[in-house]
Amino acid sequence: MDTPQSDIIVVGAGAAGLMAARELGRAGKKVTILEARDRCGGRIYSLSTEEFGYPAEGGAEFVHGEAPVTHALLREAGLSLVPVHGTRWNAEHGAFSRDEAPDLGADRLGQALADLKTDVTVADFLERHFAGPEHSRLRHSIVRRVEGYDAADPALASTLALRDEWMNREPSPQARIAGGYGALIAYLAAECRRQAAVIHLNSAVRAIEAADGRALVHCANGEKYAGDRVILTVPLPVLQEIVLPHAVGEKFAAAANIGFGSVIKILLRFKTQWWTSGKGRNLADLLFLLSDQTVPVWWTQCSTERPVLTGWVAGPNTTGLAHLDENKLIETGLASLADMFGLSPKNLTLDLVAARAINWGHDPFARGAYSYATPRTREAQSVLTSSDGAAVLLSGEALYRGRDMGTVEAALASGLETARTIIAADQI
Ligand SMILES: Cc1cc2nc3c(=O)[nH]c(=O)nc-3n(C[C@H](O)[C@H](O)[C@H](O)COP(=O)(O)OP(=O)(O)OC[C@H]3O[C@@H](n4cnc5c(N)ncnc54)[C@H](O)[C@@H]3O)c2cc1C
Repeated sequence: MDTPQSDIIVVGAGAAGLMAARELGRAGKKVTILEARDRCGGRIYSLSTEEFGYPAEGGAEFVHGEAPVTHALLREAGLSLVPVHGTRWNAEHGAFSRDEAPDLGADRLGQALADLKTDVTVADFLERHFAGPEHSRLRHSIVRRVEGYDAADPALASTLALRDEWMNREPSPQARIAGGYGALIAYLAAECRRQAAVIHLNSAVRAIEAADGRALVHCANGEKYAGDRVILTVPLPVLQEIVLPHAVGEKFAAAANIGFGSVIKILLRFKTQWWTSGKGRNLADLLFLLSDQTVPVWWTQCSTERPVLTGWVAGPNTTGLAHLDENKLIETGLASLADMFGLSPKNLTLDLVAARAINWGHDPFARGAYSYATPRTREAQSVLTSSDGAAVLLSGEALYRGRDMGTVEAALASGLETARTIIAADQI
């Protein structure tokens, strides 16, 4: 059988791949999308409504901040946002208190961050400026934020990138998509098909060859596809598993300078919102609950119709749980909650209706959750996104040079940028 020919082969039907494919299809390109999973969306993974009573998110859940590309797409798709509100609580030494995150712009910390001229890792920065025992609370709070929010290792994470993320900006509003992120992916996939792009599921790419000025893509299922250009949107750890033409492999080695963290997400649906009264406190407004438990972060759905708690372990803290299967992770989550609220895990289990635990580090087509900046990331991104007429291009959340790398917005914006680079180059 003849090898199917395309102008562009997009590897990966996540946010970046679908966004790039749609843009290229609109410009009249013949696009083929090869996706390893049996579904589109990648790290956007909305579960079936039957499981949790709504499309609960196994992957991305929140729309952070301004996110202009996401907002434009939502408007086009007729999807709306539900603002997230509620209070952050701390559970510490058997008591609950409202969380008061340190003011990162304040006093000595703000000054030390403002004075920083050359990038260093967060661990080095803390060691240099805040090593004493009097700063232990501040260190704890910063490390918790770097690990928990950015899924990053403080020994690798860039202080300048975090300064950019934390300071000089309004507090970032958060929202969820009514109908879930899956609705956005369904819209994008339908748009791609409308532009005549063909999506092949269950088509894991294992090698790319350069042949006669074209690229030949080999899938693990034995299928082959030829194209003028290939856009790889696979997560960075997966990139290392694809055999690439030598020169491309050498260029893509720069990806080692981009951090990539892991996340374990635990979703627990209960019969009741039993947590609203915690040890005599009224926790009816609970949004986030932070602690030093094995599963340290929890959040609610801010809705009485959704008695669901989501547990979150991120960054280096996932390593100690790597050996646990899904049931053991669920048990660990229940144990953390029981300990904080002074309840028996057995009673919590009796109230449980549905449970899922997803260790993204074990996902063969992600091998982690999302990227973060190290002191060498901006330089690496410049190398990786320099197109210089190359037949194999890299796109996806990790290549986004704006402030919020590691997000859906970053993936959509990166996909769009890559498509526009190709379209512009072909017009010359
Ligand atoms: C648990 C979790 C929570 C998150 N929370 C948020 C959040 O609240 N808000 C937010 O904005 N972002 C969040 N993110 C990050 C966000 O999900 C990602 O940044 C974004 O979805 C990445 O999109 P992408 O297209 O770059 O990559 P992906 O979505 O990973 O797409 C790449 C695609 O390539 C496919 N693929 C992999 N290997 C191969 C291969 N060999 N051949 C063919 N296809 C292959 C994958 O299956 C995948 O579909 C979260 C991520 C995780 C894991």
